[in-house]
Amino acid sequence: MKKILIDMDDTILVDCYLEVVNQYLNTNYTYKDIKGYWVDNIVPKDKQKDYLNYFYNKINIYDYGHIHENVIETIEQLSKYYDVLICSAYIDSRDLENCSNILIHKHKWLIKNLPFIKPENFIFTNRKDVIPADIKIDDKIENLKTCDTKLLITAYHNKEISNENLKQNNIIRVENWKEIAEILLNH
Ligand SMILES: [Mg+2]
Repeated sequence: MKKILIDMDDTILVDCYLEVVNQYLNTNYTYKDIKGYWVDNIVPKDKQKDYLNYFYNKINIYDYGHIHENVIETIEQLSKYYDVLICSAYIDSRDLENCSNILIHKHKWLIKNLPFIKPENFIFTNRKDVIPADIKIDDKIENLKTCDTKLLITAYHNKEISNENLKQNNIIRVENWKEIAEILLNH
């Protein structure tokens, strides 16, 4: 059975971080306002410490945002033909003391929403590069290493990456989970 490594944030779930930031700041930022990968960089420097305390100790990030269309049913189908592993980072060097709290939210979200994936197949690490797989699905180009098939799901921060760059790195861009199903289930 081929091994697939699937990322969580901005691959399975979307908009969670943006909604939390907007609630915390009482703003209506959209992705046009976000520069780069980290949504919470838009929080003013003098509020960062308080924001991180709020983020890690007061809320559950997965009460916000929503899931990609067709994601649950596609992963369920994939799990019949592939060894599906969910791989999600959690280390935040800005708040090492509290960042592990998000692990509980990640674990609980996964057992509730993807009950057909064995919890033994959850991997929580920032070092996705050390885990070889046949296929990886992620919104971050740097996480598509040590695998044969690299699927980059379009997200606010990766839209500018050129087709040429993707081609050079053997990466296939997918817009949604329907396209992922077409690539991985249509044979
Ligand atoms: Mg991600």
